[in-house]
Amino acid sequence: MTAVPKLQVLHERGQHEVFCGLTGIMWLHRKIQDAFFLIVGSRTCAHLMQSAAGVMIFAEPRFATAILEEKDLAGLSDANEELDKAAARLLARRPDIKLLFLVGSCPSEVIKLDLSRAALRLSAAHAPNVKVLSYSGSGIETTFTQGEDNCLAALVPELPAEEPGASRSLLVVGTLPDIVEDQLQRTFEALGIAATFFPPRRSRALPPVGPHTRVLLAQPYLAETARRLEERGAQRLKAPFPLGVEGTTQWFAAAASEFGVTHEKLAAVVTPLAERARIALEPSRQRLSGKRVFFFPDSQLEVPLARFLSRELGMHLVEVGTPFLHQELLSAELELLPGVSLSEGQDVERQLGRCRAAKPDLVVCGMGLCNPLEVEGFTTKWSIELVFSPVQGFEQAGDLAALFARPLARRALLQVNACS
Ligand code: SF4
Repeated sequence: MTAVPKLQVLHERGQHEVFCGLTGIMWLHRKIQDAFFLIVGSRTCAHLMQSAAGVMIFAEPRFATAILEEKDLAGLSDANEELDKAAARLLARRPDIKLLFLVGSCPSEVIKLDLSRAALRLSAAHAPNVKVLSYSGSGIETTFTQGEDNCLAALVPELPAEEPGASRSLLVVGTLPDIVEDQLQRTFEALGIAATFFPPRRSRALPPVGPHTRVLLAQPYLAETARRLEERGAQRLKAPFPLGVEGTTQWFAAAASEFGVTHEKLAAVVTPLAERARIALEPSRQRLSGKRVFFFPDSQLEVPLARFLSRELGMHLVEVGTPFLHQELLSAELELLPGVSLSEGQDVERQLGRCRAAKPDLVVCGMGLCNPLEVEGFTTKWSIELVFSPVQGFEQAGDLAALFARPLARRALLQVNACS
């Protein structure tokens, strides 16, 4: 792997405004359809999940919060007993659950509990029907997309080993909406590459991993998962992320090159898709080109999104803030963004000062900052929406661009109405 050129990065360690890793449960529970996420937490955690996900529950929920009350502080054995009872009640009522995640949170009572031991104990008690794993979604340790990284990293040891004599295989890693996964799968099939996806839709369909596995990350925030897969012998392919036409083209090209697909075949499969996607970008490009955008750190998608906005839609990048800058995982992205102004971590007041001074046309930030900035006259885009929406691949490139164009269109409309 080529060395990443030395970057100028502003590192900040101050007050930050981000959701915690519990938020990842919102998209993980929809992906792994026989999994259940039992948050071991406080009423605050329950309220967060309820308000964020309340509107999305349409059948039996696949997550809940086991609330540790103050009285549990008196004895950890009580808390463990309570947790065992809550899990047993849940599993007796819901035989469809095959994988149970105990998800840790911030309260001190929870931190004192050893959830990995609890998971081992519960796994033994409920084997072979249910596997129990644990990970942390605590706001002290995680930003919101790290919840997915911790969840998938906890699953990696469960992946079966490759069969002896296995041939090279492609593993696409990162939670994607089913519709996007199906589209990407069709393109891999057209290229003649057999790809499997992790996480799978059913918890028993875990893909094998080993020295013949080539990993293509679909999300940029999976550093720990990638590290654990590499520990199992897998090799990660260097590629930008499949956001926008350029990112998606190079993402497929990285797989094609590794699996010996000819340039002619790659072009025959990818060019028509890319051309259609470029046409879909055009209306948004007209609105966004020449505009200035400022990213506050939130989703860890900031660098690939900034690359898309600047290189395909003609936007000027004022500052690209990200909670963590995984330079190895982002090396192919960073090579496409020479001279970009990057910041890692956050000191929210200082960053707000830089943003106000720069007066960008569009600010991409977390929900907590959007409303105050809108009141000040800035046009904003909620970054969390980019994680919840299907945005990867050729078919979604136009929609992804429109997500950024829409707030500017809305602001223009408000101004016209205010003047008339
Ligand atoms: S895990 Fe921590 S930050 Fe997240 S909702 Fe619970 S208490 Fe709040």
